[in-house]
Amino acid sequence: MPAAPESRTNLVRRARKIDRALAATYPDARCELDFDNPFELLVVTVLSAQTTDKRVNAVRPTLFAAYPDAKAMAAADRATLEGIVGPLGFFRAKTESLLKLSAALVERHGGDVPPRLEDLVALPGVGRKTANVVLGNAFGIPGITVDTHFGRLARRFAWTDETDPVKVEHAVGALFDKRDWTMLSHHLIWHGRRVCHSRNPACGACPVAQWCPAYGEGPTDPVAAAKLVKTEGRA
Ligand code: SF4
Repeated sequence: MPAAPESRTNLVRRARKIDRALAATYPDARCELDFDNPFELLVVTVLSAQTTDKRVNAVRPTLFAAYPDAKAMAAADRATLEGIVGPLGFFRAKTESLLKLSAALVERHGGDVPPRLEDLVALPGVGRKTANVVLGNAFGIPGITVDTHFGRLARRFAWTDETDPVKVEHAVGALFDKRDWTMLSHHLIWHGRRVCHSRNPACGACPVAQWCPAYGEGPTDPVAAAKLVKTEGRA
């Protein structure tokens, strides 16, 4: 006989237990991109597409020494900027994105980063994911960041079966207090980067295995699973 569907109350309880266990496992969970202000976070988040946080963190000092604010970046010499972001790949497209983004910040917001989702997503090259990263981490406004890890884990936890990131954001957001959204995002992303990989999740070394319906998708043997655990995020 198929198992009865989980009640809403049990789903909420189980979801919050998972988040608490992940919080205890990853007490240092945070945005893995370095930044000093909202402008820097917006720029490095845009730059982090298709590369690693570590690489972005490495170019950050040079980038913001040359262009400390939107006004300076909007006036950047294209070739110089391309040279700085070169190590990240796709340097022409990334340079174009930064020039357009900083010009829009200057034209529409006097060079400041607006602290509102609607304004952020209206900026060129800024999607909902980037906007929520900036709101949650630079402005302290709760936001859920649905990246590939977050979506995969939310589905493995059976918190939702949606695949559209906006639908995942709303479905998962309804299970938690709003004030927990930003840290919840970090917990899932950290767990996805370190343990619950897309292929071969380390189920036998997973601190939330007892609440996870997908337990067994990866090796359950503790020794085999321990070998799959990564100690760093996006190295
Ligand atoms: S038990 Fe396996 S599938 Fe579930 S969260 Fe842990 S690693 Fe991921």
